[in-house]
Amino acid sequence: MSSLQSSREDFRSGFIALIGRPNVGKSTLVNKLVGKKVAITSPIAQTTRNRLRVILTTPKAQIIFVDAPGIHKPHHLLGERLVQSSKNLIGEVDSILLMFEGCKPPGRGDAFIVQLLAQQSIPVLIALNKWDLVSKDQAQNRLNEYRNLIEQHIWPIYCCSAVNGEGCEILTKNIINFLPFGPCLYPSNITSDQSEEIFLSELIREQVLLNTREEIPHSVAVSIDRIEEMPIKNKSSNIKRTAILATIFVEKKSQKSILIGKGGSMLKIIGKGARSQMKKIMNVPIYLELFVKVLPNWRSRSARLSELGYKAK
Ligand code: GDP
Ligand code: MG
Repeated sequence: MSSLQSSREDFRSGFIALIGRPNVGKSTLVNKLVGKKVAITSPIAQTTRNRLRVILTTPKAQIIFVDAPGIHKPHHLLGERLVQSSKNLIGEVDSILLMFEGCKPPGRGDAFIVQLLAQQSIPVLIALNKWDLVSKDQAQNRLNEYRNLIEQHIWPIYCCSAVNGEGCEILTKNIINFLPFGPCLYPSNITSDQSEEIFLSELIREQVLLNTREEIPHSVAVSIDRIEEMPIKNKSSNIKRTAILATIFVEKKSQKSILIGKGGSMLKIIGKGARSQMKKIMNVPIYLELFVKVLPNWRSRSARLSELGYKAK
């Protein structure tokens, strides 16, 4: 399809960065827009560590969303790399989808991002997400608060809900209108540029984020050690299952004990959750074995960060 489409003069394509404070729903929105899970999400800020490209191909356009880590004040070297990566991103895309949490009034973090973008000449669209949580009475007021936040900038505002899909179709249409004319940049059948290995490790990290409290989430990195296809025993059919061995790295011994839990109970919950997500997405039976290792201060050690895939780019 791409060669036919790419020769059409009215086809649009381009990169749009998702920019916004952590937790505004960037990853949830790209999943909704492409209609399947490609980015992990959680109620905990800073879920997204790696830059992820999510690709939506329609008969009229190909939108490449770049889901960057949220912009926030850095506390660790990891945090600094995340912020730097978001700032660099602004210079590398065709337009910006600036996201706010419409269910809350604008905060200082939002003003910081508006200032950052105001210094660039790049086109900006605004998504006021979580609109499902805004009552009819509040709506007009809230919209005005965000209009005031962006001051004189002519940035169109779209209210949407990444959870129930409200406003998402209009948003997609308008994003397409913001893109330059051009051919498909990725094959039309792919939805993300993420390797299977990274995606699997992200699904495990997502379960850690969902099941543990404060002191654990940001201290966790996951590496996939082995992926293997194994025939299922005692079955005459040739169904295979995929065996995945992975290691969860934490910074302290105490964190390791929390992650393993009493008699391995926590690790079991994490494993069960990750396995069920993997099975659903990959559509094959999964055998998953998890190990937990302590890697002191991995977040502050540059070489380790690169090894675990958090590039300074
Ligand atoms: P990110 O850090 O910006 O990528 O945010 P996530 O996509 O990980 O979402 C953070 C949290 O907000 C998750 O618990 C999502 O389920 C929730 N969320 C995202 N979008 C919406 C929305 O439109 N409505 C509601 N009610 N919750 C949302
Ligand atoms: Mg995210």
